[in-house]
Amino acid sequence: MRVLVVEDEPDLARQLQEGLAGAGYAVDYAPDGEEAHFLGDTEPYDAVILDLGLPILDGVSVLEKWRKAGREMPVLILTARDSWSDKVAGLDAGADDYLAKPFKMEELLARLRALIRRSAGHASPELECGPVLLDTRSSKVTVDGTAVRLTAQEFKLLSYLMHHAGKVVSRTELTEHLYDQDFDRDSNTIEVFVNRVRKKLGVNIIATVRGMGYQLANPDPGTGTDPDANKGD
Ligand code: CA
Repeated sequence: MRVLVVEDEPDLARQLQEGLAGAGYAVDYAPDGEEAHFLGDTEPYDAVILDLGLPILDGVSVLEKWRKAGREMPVLILTARDSWSDKVAGLDAGADDYLAKPFKMEELLARLRALIRRSAGHASPELECGPVLLDTRSSKVTVDGTAVRLTAQEFKLLSYLMHHAGKVVSRTELTEHLYDQDFDRDSNTIEVFVNRVRKKLGVNIIATVRGMGYQLANPDPGTGTDPDANKGD
């Protein structure tokens, strides 16, 4: 999952970036409203953390512009502790949640997980596909109750696919959501990761859709479907 952090206070911005990266997010950063608006308008984020008091363009205006342009990513605003009017203005401008400063990183991470899974249409923190269970809180994956050890990158990939189960997800989309802006992206590495995850899970839940990408689906025990069978894109 890839998030945008918009915060002009350098220490807090650094804490946010470190905390989010440590929790497995690809993180982009904008120090002012103009940069924030540009990035949110052009890059596909799974969520945005948006401070309201910003140089050049304030957070509420940035948010209004995004929503007017049809940008639908979940947005969590950071507000001053006592400013109820900030919260109202932010939520009315299209924010999905807010957090008052100062806050605990654990609370921010929990709110972010909830926003991301809600926006992908999931109410439960545990995502399920056939025998595979992914717990978004603990970042643990099990197959038929047995724990599977995935690397951070493998987990990110599976988590994105499980959040978007049933949808065809292209390699480009995966690349855009697993890596930050500065990462040297190579969509071929996605295929390598997909194959590693398939091998570790040992069940066929990631199918290759020829020429389009990947689709997570319940394995069909009757047919013994090989997810590599229609490879060749
Ligand atoms: Ca500020």
